Amino acid sequence: MNQTKYIFVTGGVTSSLGKGIIAASLAKLLQARGYRTTIQKFDPYINVDPGTLNPYEHGECYVTDDGAETDLDLGHYERFLNVPTSQANNVTTGRVYLSVIEKERRGEFLGKTVQVVPHITNEIKDRMQLLGNSGDFDIVITEIGGTVGDIESLPYIESVRQLVWELGENNGIVIHLTLVPYLAAAGELKTKPTQHSVKTLMESGIKADILVCRTEHEISDELRHKLALFCNVKREAVIQSIDASTIYEVPNLMLEEGLDIVALKKLNLPKKAAPDLKNWNTFLHRLKNPKHTINIGLIGKYVELQDSYKSILEAFIHAGATNETKVNVVSVHSEYLDAKNISEKLQGLDGILVAPGFGERGIEGKIEAVRFARENNLPFFGICLGMQMAVIEYARNVLGLKDANSTEMNQGTAHPVIDLMEEQKDITDKGGTMRLGAWKCDILPNTLAHKIYEKTTILERHRHRYEFNGNYLAQLENAGLKASGVNPDTGLVEIIELENHPFFIGVQYHPEYKSTVANPHPLFVNFVAAMVKNKKSGAK
Ligand code: GLN
Repeated sequence: MNQTKYIFVTGGVTSSLGKGIIAASLAKLLQARGYRTTIQKFDPYINVDPGTLNPYEHGECYVTDDGAETDLDLGHYERFLNVPTSQANNVTTGRVYLSVIEKERRGEFLGKTVQVVPHITNEIKDRMQLLGNSGDFDIVITEIGGTVGDIESLPYIESVRQLVWELGENNGIVIHLTLVPYLAAAGELKTKPTQHSVKTLMESGIKADILVCRTEHEISDELRHKLALFCNVKREAVIQSIDASTIYEVPNLMLEEGLDIVALKKLNLPKKAAPDLKNWNTFLHRLKNPKHTINIGLIGKYVELQDSYKSILEAFIHAGATNETKVNVVSVHSEYLDAKNISEKLQGLDGILVAPGFGERGIEGKIEAVRFARENNLPFFGICLGMQMAVIEYARNVLGLKDANSTEMNQGTAHPVIDLMEEQKDITDKGGTMRLGAWKCDILPNTLAHKIYEKTTILERHRHRYEFNGNYLAQLENAGLKASGVNPDTGLVEIIELENHPFFIGVQYHPEYKSTVANPHPLFVNFVAAMVKNKKSGAK
C-alpha cells in the first residue's frame, strides 16, 4: 500500500468521554486485521509537554523509550497495541508554538508576518503527517485533545479540515465522539447535545464521517436513525459505545458495532482477515474469571485522582490476569501514615507498593510503610521514589543512620543516601531535563531480580533526578540490602532487594510503563504471584 490513511478523532459535549480508549480500540481492531496502525495525540495546552504538570492536572505523565514525557493516553496505545510510541506520538500547542517561534527567530519565514493560519496550522499538519510519512504505517489515528468548540482547539480543528481536504477523498476521515445522556426523570436518552456538537464541528467546516456515542443505556434503532438523520451520517456510521466493566472490553464492543468495518469502508480499504483477537480474549477471560483475590496497598500522595497512577493500576490488571487473580488496589494516603497508625492502616493488605513521586509531602509515611513491610514479611515493591524510600528506611533503621535522607527532601542531611545525580547538578530548567527514557541495567545472577527477569541485561524507562548514593553502597550491602541491578556505564544502582523476605524489591525505573496486555511486566506478575503465595501460606 502506498498511501497512508488518516483517521482523526474529535470529542464533543464533554471531556473525559474516553477518546483515547476508542482510538486505541479501533487501532487494536485494525492492527488485528493486519494493518500497521499507530495513534498520536495532539493536546491543546501550552505546556511544551506534560512533564512539568502536577499529576492532579491531567493524571500521570507517561514516558516513552525515547524519553518523551507524554500524555497518559499514549500508555493506553502501548498497552493495547504492544508497539512502542515516541516523541512524535504526542504534540502540544506549546511544542507547536515553540518550534514556529524558533523558526521565526532563525529567519525561516523570510520577512512574512507569522500567523495562526497558515504558520501554526502548517506546523500542526506537518506533525500530523510525520509518522505517516515514515512509511512504517498504513493507518495513522490522530486523537485531538479537548472538546470541539473550545477556543484552544480551533487551530487543530482547522488543521484537520485542511488536511482532510488535501488528502482527498477516502484518505482522511473524522470520527466524532459524543455523549448521549440519559435523563432519569424523563426515562429517556437525549440526542440534542450530540446534534449541537456535530453542528459546532460543521461550523468549522468538518463533517463527521462516523459518530461514536457514549451512553449508559442501549441506543434503540429509532434513536440511531434519528442521530444519523440529524447529524448527517450514514445509519451504519452511528456507533454505540456503552459503558463497559473494563476498558479491555471496548475493542470487542467496537467490533460488534462494526466501527472498524465502517472506518475501512470510508477509507476505501479492504477488510482483510477477520480480526485475530485470540490472545486478547484469553487475557479477558482470565481477567473476568479470577481464582484468587488479593488486596494491595498503593502508598502514594496523589491517591485522590486515580489517573495519577494509571500505568501502575493497568500493570496490576495485566499481572492479575496472568495469575488468574483479582487484584484490589487499595489507595493509602502516605501523608496520613505514621508509626502509631501504620498497622491499623495497612491491615488486611497482602502487600504494598510504594509509589513514585516528587517532593517532601508524604515521604515519612512512605518510609514507615516500607519499615512495616520489611519487618512484617509483607511483600514490598518500590518504584522510583518508592525504591529511594526503601534505601532511606534501611539506612535509618538498620544501619542506624538516623538522619539518612534524600537531598531532594533535606539538602543538609548528614547522610545523603539518595543524592542528586552528578549530571543534574548544573541543570536549572525543570522541563525535559530529568534522566528520561530507556537506560540499560545489568542484573546480577542469583538474585530475585534475575529470577524475575530471567535475563542479565534489561532496558527500562526512567524519570528521575536523584539516585542511590554509591558512597553508601558497601555499608548498605554489608547490612543486607543488595544492589541487584546496576547501570553498566555509570554504576548507578537500578534495583535493590532483600534476602530472607517473601518479596522485597525496589527499582529506580518505571516498569509500569512497559506492561501491556500482550506482555505483562514480569515484576508485577511476580509481585502478584508472591502475594498470592504468601497469602495462601498464611504467612501474612
Ligand atoms: N523525586 C525522585 C527523583 O527525582 C523520584 C522520581 C520518581 O519517583 N519518578 O529522583
